[in-house]
Amino acid sequence: MRIRGAVLEEIGRARPYAESTPISVGELELAPPGPGELLVRIEAAGLCHSDLSVVDGNRVRPVPMLLGHEAAGIVESLGPGAAPEGLAVGDRVVMAFLPRCGECANCRTDGQLPCTPGSVANNAGELLGGGRRLSREGAEVHHHLGVSGFATHAVVDARSVTRVDADVPPEIAAVLGCAVLTGGGAVLNAGMPTGGADVIVIGLGGVGMAAVLTALSLKSDGAVGRVIGVDAQPAKLDAVRALGADLAYAPEELAAAGVRAPVVIEAAGHPRAFESAVAATAVGGRTVTVGLPNPAARSEISPLVLTAEARTIIGSYLGSAVPQRDIPRYVELWRAGKLPVEKLISGVITLEQINEGMDSLADGAAVRQVIRF
Ligand SMILES: [Zn+2]
Ligand SMILES: [Zn+2]
Repeated sequence: MRIRGAVLEEIGRARPYAESTPISVGELELAPPGPGELLVRIEAAGLCHSDLSVVDGNRVRPVPMLLGHEAAGIVESLGPGAAPEGLAVGDRVVMAFLPRCGECANCRTDGQLPCTPGSVANNAGELLGGGRRLSREGAEVHHHLGVSGFATHAVVDARSVTRVDADVPPEIAAVLGCAVLTGGGAVLNAGMPTGGADVIVIGLGGVGMAAVLTALSLKSDGAVGRVIGVDAQPAKLDAVRALGADLAYAPEELAAAGVRAPVVIEAAGHPRAFESAVAATAVGGRTVTVGLPNPAARSEISPLVLTAEARTIIGSYLGSAVPQRDIPRYVELWRAGKLPVEKLISGVITLEQINEGMDSLADGAAVRQVIRF
């Protein structure tokens, strides 16, 4: 079938992207779903830093690539053979950017380790079942993280999606798939605050703000004490206070104030932010890193404090999530009014505005822009 989608043509074009247009919006051919795959009509897709990292070359991936890895939509058809368990035509599904095969050794770690074949498929720009379903004039186009959600339709592996009830609006559902799974999981699955522990979140983009919201949701049952947001941009500090954070600091203010916490989440994807996160972790505490810096980035930290203060550093990919287990938890918190995911959405744009949207993201002005279809 013919679809309309946003394809990254070339990595590393100069900013502003509104002028250099690294992403072109046009028609593509989408092959029908294979066994265990779904055709999804995309309703909403969020712009995430991991999309921008492909555009600016911080995370080099094969091009041309149809971007977008945070999306939700309606199942329009199922591939041949047995229907994937629990999924039917008409269901609303949330996509997650790392499929879990459910069979490899890493998949038996409750989300602590990323799925091996899922990672291989993602790096190759293919679906978990192998190969690509996207093409233009006979030439294949790569999938982005098994989703490629910046398009009117997508074919995805059933192991990339989680079904949600119809009362979850499309833009909320989309943001659950990356920002909330990653930021929320950094708190719930990796940081695991208990007993009124303070939580510091460094880097207040979509993932960081989702970590703040999730930490705030744990205050009422006494697991979390103060929630502290850290970002270099004053506007982000105002925004995190508005979300309900107890304190907000610029990175140098945090260091000067000597504030430390048992759980510190690094969501900026920058080596200096990681150093700040380690420095702000209390004795016996956990530093959780969910950011994705440039592969060449290096940090300088003191190994002595890790030993002397009995600390832990945890790398958490996709928030150490098992999407089918975790998304229903976030939906429940959202329904109870404890996780106001809508507050993460800073703007709604069209597919045609994608290059301008990448500029806003690069400027640090936006938390989550969502494309509505
Ligand atoms: Zn993302
Ligand atoms: Zn696996």
